[in-house]
Amino acid sequence: MDTTPSSADGLDRDIAALKAHAADYGAQHKVIDRITWPNGARIAVNFTADFDTMLLRRLLNEPPQQLAKGEFGGRVGIWRLIELFDSHKIKATIFTPGRICELYPESLRAAARSGHEIADHMWEHRVPKEPELERDHLKKTIAAIEKTVGKRPVGTRSTHSRELLLEHGYIYISEDSMDHQPNWLSADGTRPLLNLPFHYAIDDAMFFSFAWLGSDNSAQRMMDPDHVEELWWRMFEQCYRAGGYMNVCMHPFVSGRALRIAMLDRLINRMKALPGVWFPSCEEVARHIIGAH
Ligand SMILES: [Zn+2]
Repeated sequence: MDTTPSSADGLDRDIAALKAHAADYGAQHKVIDRITWPNGARIAVNFTADFDTMLLRRLLNEPPQQLAKGEFGGRVGIWRLIELFDSHKIKATIFTPGRICELYPESLRAAARSGHEIADHMWEHRVPKEPELERDHLKKTIAAIEKTVGKRPVGTRSTHSRELLLEHGYIYISEDSMDHQPNWLSADGTRPLLNLPFHYAIDDAMFFSFAWLGSDNSAQRMMDPDHVEELWWRMFEQCYRAGGYMNVCMHPFVSGRALRIAMLDRLINRMKALPGVWFPSCEEVARHIIGAH
């Protein structure tokens, strides 16, 4: 290791910069102490589905087999998920790219009729760097969702800027994994946006997506659903004991496969067997927290 004074100075500067960055990041997130849920529930579980189908794969210029895999989500997977949630009387949140409204409008209308929330997941699964284009994408997505299901989205899973989202009436974002509890996002304490965190450890694509994002063959993920059920069950037990919040992230093209639907069905039955488990949409969680905290 080089310990010359000049590199030590450089290291000090790096550490100071990292600490400042961490403090800044921390100041932008305010965790809510002792969240309480309606009817004395012990835990709120959000089932969320990112309705990506082939949009991201197309942006990444992936081969036709990958695109077809995504398309399964729009043709079959989304319908199986709606059926699963309906059979358990669970209200889920479907984060929907605006262009999905053109591609699979019937499934979105059916989900909305069942009381599921249709929320924003960017226009074509990306947030443009150019501010005017970003605004245009957000507005197009809002208009497309409103035209399809008759209601504007109030939440997003994206990196759209907070100010832009607030300006368009959004109340929550479900994007980062900085905490395990809902928290407020605000640089200065004013105009906060509620963050409903998720985590990749409870994300179906991390366990079941073959050749995910162009990964090579040695990085393929094709896990046994029984094994994943046990991992997720242990995670749920831990969250349930502590009380609070859990956000399960799914994709119709991943979880919509038959064996995985069966696994989710078993998992939900196990969750429902415990008292005090609430299965609302993200919007219901957000409105409750905004009202009560
Ligand atoms: Zn996505």
